[in-house]
Amino acid sequence: MRIVVLNILSVLLFISCNTSSDNVEKDSKYGIVIHGGAGNIVKENIPDSLIAEYNNKLEEALDAGIVILEKGGKSIDAVEAAIHILEDSPLFNAGKGSVFTHDGLNEMDASIMDGKTLNAGAVSGVQTIKNPISAARTVMIRSEHVMLSGRGAEKFAEDHGLIIVDKTYFYTRKRWESLQHIIEKQKKDKYGTVGCVAVDIHGNIVAGTSTGGMTNKRYGRVGDSPIIGAGTYANNNTCGISATGHGEYFIRYTVAHDISALMEYKGVSLKEAADIVINQKLKSVNGSGGVIGIDKDLNICMTFNTPGMFRGYATSNGDRQVLIFK
Ligand code: ASP
Repeated sequence: MRIVVLNILSVLLFISCNTSSDNVEKDSKYGIVIHGGAGNIVKENIPDSLIAEYNNKLEEALDAGIVILEKGGKSIDAVEAAIHILEDSPLFNAGKGSVFTHDGLNEMDASIMDGKTLNAGAVSGVQTIKNPISAARTVMIRSEHVMLSGRGAEKFAEDHGLIIVDKTYFYTRKRWESLQHIIEKQKKDKYGTVGCVAVDIHGNIVAGTSTGGMTNKRYGRVGDSPIIGAGTYANNNTCGISATGHGEYFIRYTVAHDISALMEYKGVSLKEAADIVINQKLKSVNGSGGVIGIDKDLNICMTFNTPGMFRGYATSNGDRQVLIFK
């Protein structure tokens, strides 16, 4: 008798598990939002052929992430895959296309954060890691630290089997010429960074950001991109954010966390929170740049106070768009 009851119970358990996983599949929502930097990006200054190249690369990055999410894959894999596409392209100021420091080096920063666990990883000032976002992910998952810098971060990445390249890999003529141009004018250029935020069918939000920093930066300057709460933040209860812009302002105003905090403490929507921080707080002090973000209900923000921001999103609702100008 006892065995019969147990058998019936296990059949019922089997049916209920299967039904609930079917429901997860049916109701499953996922989405991804990316950026390739904000700045003085105006149509008149970019040839049509280059606009097409940017659009194609943003579409390719969205595809790389969405293909993972639609199969029920994890948001962290989607974020890393999308950022790899942008890091491997010379078009954006991250990985291959990183800008030069004043001393003619490429010093990259990246970070990633998991909104479920609030775990995070970051690297700063790395010169030989092909995909800094993967180094950030490895720091998050395989170390007890949040941020590693310079040679130590490179050694850690090498020890964990990441692709290490010769420093000359990051040379691109365009970035070299812009350094010479900027040195002549003694100015700083603040555009380019890449970022991605994704939510998977389990409602887990992950945000990541990767950058070469600012052209002509000196003395080991570190921007907002590797700083959790400034350039990157994720919390399943609120949203995930990746930022781009004049890093010093994003650090001082803890931009990414501020948006999450407005949602958490004041109950405002993602869009409204991003608008308050980017278009009111930052704008009033001339802090230029923007953010992308997503929450578990697939609300998306792509908010910036500059003339343009390379950006795009795709969701399980079938919504998809790639944009550059205002
Ligand atoms: N936020 C980056 C930094 O300050 C630059 C950028 O977004 O282009 O390093």
